[in-house]
Amino acid sequence: MRTLAPTVALSLAVTASACSPPDSASPFPDDAYTISATRPITDVERGTFVFDALGVTVSNDFAGGRFSEATTDGDSVLVLHLRPENAPINNSAWYAFRLWANEPDTLTVRLTYTDGRHRYVPKVRTAAAPEWTLLDSEAVRLDEETRDALLRLPVGPDTIQVAGQEMRTSSFFEEWTATLAARDDVTRRSIGTTPRGRDMSMVESGNPDARRHVLFISRQHPPEVTGTFALVAYMAEMLGDSPLAADFRDRFRIHVVPLMNPDGVDLGHWRHNTGGVDLNRDWVAFHQPETRFVRDEMGRILAEEGRELWFFADFHSTNRDVFYTLDRALETRPAGVLDPWIEHIRTALPDYALEEDPSDGGYGVVSRDWAWREHQAPGMVYEVGDNTPRELIAEVARTAARGTMQILLERAAAEDGG
Ligand SMILES: [Zn+2]
Repeated sequence: MRTLAPTVALSLAVTASACSPPDSASPFPDDAYTISATRPITDVERGTFVFDALGVTVSNDFAGGRFSEATTDGDSVLVLHLRPENAPINNSAWYAFRLWANEPDTLTVRLTYTDGRHRYVPKVRTAAAPEWTLLDSEAVRLDEETRDALLRLPVGPDTIQVAGQEMRTSSFFEEWTATLAARDDVTRRSIGTTPRGRDMSMVESGNPDARRHVLFISRQHPPEVTGTFALVAYMAEMLGDSPLAADFRDRFRIHVVPLMNPDGVDLGHWRHNTGGVDLNRDWVAFHQPETRFVRDEMGRILAEEGRELWFFADFHSTNRDVFYTLDRALETRPAGVLDPWIEHIRTALPDYALEEDPSDGGYGVVSRDWAWREHQAPGMVYEVGDNTPRELIAEVARTAARGTMQILLERAAAEDGG
C-alpha cells in the first residue's frame, strides 16, 4: 500500500474527530462518523398466515421473504403491510411472498407501505413456470390516493411466488461462487462472519504473486439485484476463456466480495444491515463488521511491499444505468484509466446511452471514496437500472470488463516498459 498525502490527512482527521467536535479542517462531511453508527432494527414476524374467508395462505417464511403484517380488507382483498427494518431509509421498498389458494381464482393483493413507496415492478414465478417473469402490467395498479400498489394475482393450489426483483439471496451466491471455486484457478474463502452468523465470502483468481490487484464488491443494499446481474456477467468475462482474460489473470490478482450484506439480503431488508445502517455510508467510520472485513482483508493483502489496488467497482441498482466515477482532479494510481474505460464502452456499444457522473468523491463515505483514499484506486459506483433489460445489463457488463482488462494491461505494459 502506498502512503500518499490523502492517507495522512485521513489519519489526522480520525484522531481529531475521536476526541473533539468536527473541526473545519476535516475533509469529511460533518456526519461522516455518526451516519453509520449502529441503531436498532425491527425483524419481521416470519410465518405462514391462513385467511379462511379468502381461502388463501400467504408466507414470508423463506430467505429474502418480506412483509411485516398480513391482513384483509373486506372479504376479497389481501393486504400486505410493508415496513422497512428501520427509518429513515432511502426508498427501496422490498417485498417477497408466497401465496396459494384453495381454489383457482384471481386475488387482489394490496401492498401498503410505511416509510416508503412502491418502487419494484412485481416479478412472479411458479413451480410450473420457474423462471421469474414480469407480472403483466395490466395486473398492477397504483392507488393515486394512498400510493398503495394493487396486484391482481392468479392463485390456486400451486404456490405463486411474488417479489420486487428476481430473487438472488445467499443460496444463489453460495452456488455461484462454489461453481467458480470448482476451477483450479479460483479460490473462495470466508473473510468474516456477520452478526447473524452468515459468511462473508471473497472469491479470488489471477496471479497470486501479482503486484497489481483489482477489487469488486456488490449488494451492500439488499434489493439491488440488477447490480448482481451486472457483476455475474462482468466476472464471466474476466474469468472467461478469451486471450485477453487469460493475459489479465497472468498479470493481475482479482478479488470479489459479491455479497456484502448477506444478513440484510436473507432478511428481506430494504437497504440496511442488522446494524440498522446503510453500509455504503460506513467507509469512513467503519462502525459495521461487513465494511471492516473488506477494509481489513484488503489492507492485509496490499500491505506487502509494492502491491497496489489498480481498479475498484461497487455494483448497485437505481432508477437508471449510471457510472458514478471519480472526479478526474483526484490523482489515481494508475492514472488515466477512467476516461479510456468510458470511451471503450461508448465505442463498443454506440447505441447504448452511457451516463457517467464523475462525483466529487474522495472524501465521501462510500466505498469508492475509501478505495481511492486508502489505495489511490481509480473506481466507481456501478449503478444498474431496476428495469434495464437483463440482456443489456449483461452486454454492458461484459464490455465494461473487457475495457477494464484491456486498459489496465496497457497501463501495466507502459509502466513495465513492455
Ligand atoms: Zn445501492
